[in-house]
This record gives sequence, C-alpha cells and structure tokens, in this order.
Amino acid sequence: MKNNSKYIVTYLISISILLSSDIGKCNICYGDIYEDYFKDAWGNIYHKEHQKSAKFCDSCYRVVSVAITNGGYYLPDNRLICNLCYQSSINTINYAQVNLVTMIDYLSKNGINIDINLVKLNLIYKHEVNLVDKNHIDYKGFTYINQDEKNNVFNIFILKGLPIQEFNATVAHELMHIWISKNNIVLDIELEEYYCNLISKDIYSYYDDDFSRIKMKSIDLHLSKNKFYNQFNKQKYLINDIVEHINER
Ligand SMILES: [Zn+2]
Ligand SMILES: [Zn+2]
Ligand SMILES: [Zn+2]
Repeated sequence: MKNNSKYIVTYLISISILLSSDIGKCNICYGDIYEDYFKDAWGNIYHKEHQKSAKFCDSCYRVVSVAITNGGYYLPDNRLICNLCYQSSINTINYAQVNLVTMIDYLSKNGINIDINLVKLNLIYKHEVNLVDKNHIDYKGFTYINQDEKNNVFNIFILKGLPIQEFNATVAHELMHIWISKNNIVLDIELEEYYCNLISKDIYSYYDDDFSRIKMKSIDLHLSKNKFYNQFNKQKYLINDIVEHINER
C-alpha cells in the first residue's frame, strides 16, 4: 500500500485568512495569532512561521506539540507518532493477531473469503526490511503476493505502532490483495489498489471518530489521483458494492 503521509499532510493543511472573530492562540507557542495562520487536518491553528519546523503525526496528521498531542515519540524507524495515537497503537504480535482474525471474519462474512491459515502476519519497523521497490517508501503495510513455497502462506507485513483503526484498515487492504490473487482475478495494478483502498475506507467507516474521518478524507485524496477514478460513479462504496463491482467486470 502506498501511503505518502507527507503528501497527504500538505493537502490537509489549510491556510486561513484571519477574521476578527477567530483570533486565537497558537497551538505550538501559545502566543496570540494576529495574522493569517495555518490549520492542520484537525482544525488546530498555529502561526505561519512554524510551518517549516512543524512536525506532523505519521498516523493522524495532527501537528505534534505539547499543547495538542502532549508530544509524541519517534519510533526506531523515524516515524513520528503523537502521544494520542500512541495510546492505542499496536505493538505486540498477539494484539495484532486478534485484530487480524477480526478483519478476516468481517471480510469473509461479506463475500471476501480468506483462509486464515494462508496468512502469516509480521509486525515490523521500516528499517527491518529491505524493499527493492522504492515506491513502497511510504507504506504502512505490504504483502508478498507470491506464496512462500515452504510454508504455503502469504506474508503480510504491517508497521509497528499504528493506532488500531489504521492497523485494521491496513490489514484489510492487504487481505484484499490476497483475496484478489488467490481468486486469480486479474486487474490493472492501479485498479487493484483502488479496490484495496475502498476496503480500507469501509473499515474506517465503522469507527465513528474524527481520526477515521480524516483517514477517509486522505484515502479520497489518493483515489482522486488514481487513473480509474472516473469508473466509480458514486462516492460511498461499501464492501458489498466493491465485491459486486469486481464481479461485474
Ligand atoms: Zn495495496
Ligand atoms: Zn506560534
Ligand atoms: Zn497522531
């Protein structure tokens, strides 16, 4: 999965013209704001002068500061995770495995049947794998679609430290790649990515929280750049629509 968070952050930040009604405090230095300012994806405002030095959470895209997120952590692979996301982040294989099972159950109930014995989940930091394809530099997860011949499994790799919603949306995306491959469905690589991103969106739509709404917005941004964007005539594809859409091809 390609997930270029720097690109997404740039698009989700907005510059606001100062209106007399919304003079507020900067969320980075606590000073008053007297001129045009920036706003992150969550509506947190800060002085224009911080734009170059501001750091954003790799998961929620909030500007990381003591005021907003109570700081954050650099993970061993240099991803910055804010303290809010860190509270629900998935760092152990047992916790990850429980969520994998939930996702497989959910997909299977909706026509995307995947045998759990075919899936091997790996939790990693970015520097622990050496990817040849530089396109994956901003990934959150990926799958080796060639089944491991010795164990006859598909290996899914998910980054350690993702908040639970992002973990599940990423796992479901990777499971969709496996289902497509296992069923010998041949799709243009970009179209396949489109479907997998719709699956992630479907998962986020079950969480009624701002984090998931912002992630859905970032997926929409990705989808709008996809060359198959025009083939999808409505915005809200749920899981049954996606399976139907694939079957109609
Ligand atoms: Zn993908
Ligand atoms: Zn400031
Ligand atoms: Zn965060």
